[in-house]
Amino acid sequence: MNLLTGFTFENHVAHGAIVELSSGVAELLDQRAYSEDVRRLVAEAIAAMPLLATHLHDEGRINLQFQGEGAMKLLVAQVDQSLNVRAMAKAEAGLSGDFAQLLYGGLLALMMEPINAPGAEPRPASQALVLIEGARLSDALEGYFERSEQLPTLLRLATDNRGHVAGFLLQRLPIEDLRDADIEWEHLQTLASTLTPEELLAADANTILHRLFHAEALRVFEPRAVTVACRCSRAGIARMLLSLGREEVESIIAEQGRVAVTCEFCGREHVFTPLEAAELLIPSGTLPSSDRKH
Ligand SMILES: [Zn+2]
Repeated sequence: MNLLTGFTFENHVAHGAIVELSSGVAELLDQRAYSEDVRRLVAEAIAAMPLLATHLHDEGRINLQFQGEGAMKLLVAQVDQSLNVRAMAKAEAGLSGDFAQLLYGGLLALMMEPINAPGAEPRPASQALVLIEGARLSDALEGYFERSEQLPTLLRLATDNRGHVAGFLLQRLPIEDLRDADIEWEHLQTLASTLTPEELLAADANTILHRLFHAEALRVFEPRAVTVACRCSRAGIARMLLSLGREEVESIIAEQGRVAVTCEFCGREHVFTPLEAAELLIPSGTLPSSDRKH
C-alpha cells in the first residue's frame, strides 16, 4: 500500500508528511536500464514527489527536473493533484557516483503546471530555477525551498533500491506573529533530525511520528493513497500532437507514414495512422455527426 500521511503542529509553526511507497516502484524503475546509482536517484525522486505535492493547491502537476552538466543529463519526476507519480532519468549506461558527483553544479527546475479547463481563463505555469547544491538529492531540494520559497525545510529520503522508498518532510509554515516560533522550529528540527534512513524504511508513519513528536501537540491527517505508474494515454499524446500543429504532424506522416510517439517514462509506444492523425487535426464539431466514429 502506497501512503502519504500529512501532519501539522497545533502551534502552526510547521507541517510535514511521511510517504511510504512499495507498489509500482520497482516496475517503473525497471522500465529503463539504470545503473545502481542512477536507479537510487530516480527512486529518491519518486519518494520526494508526494511530499512536494503538499504545495499543489489547485488542480495541476509538479514537474521536477535535475539538469546535469556531465554524463548524467536529466532526472525528471512528476506528481499531480491525485498523487500519481512517475520519474525517469537520462544517463550514460553504467554510470556510477553519488548525487553530488553526478549532478552537482547543474540546475534544479521546479515547475507548477496548472490544468486548464477548456474555455476557462488559463492559469500560467510557474517555474523556479536554482543551482544544484548539496551532497544528496534531499539537500538540493532543501536548498530550493530555503532559497526560492523562503521555507526552511528538513527532507529525508530513503530507498532499499529494490522497490521500497520512503520520505519525510518537515517544513516551517510562513507565519511571523508567533512568539518563540524560531525556538519552536529549532526544537522540531532537532527532534526530526534523529530520524535515520533505516528507520524511515522500516517503520510506518504512525510509529515514526510517535517516536519523534509524542510530546508535541500534533494533528495527523487521514493517509492518502499514492500511485506510482506512468499514466500516459492516447488522449494525452493526441493533445501533445495538436500542440505541435498541423504542419509538423503532416510532415512526420509524409516522412514515416504514421506518427509513433514513445513515452520516455514507461517506454510505451502510441501510434496514430494517417487517418487517425487527420481526424485529430479536424477541429471538434466540424464533422457531420454521421461521419463520427464512436
Ligand atoms: Zn508512459
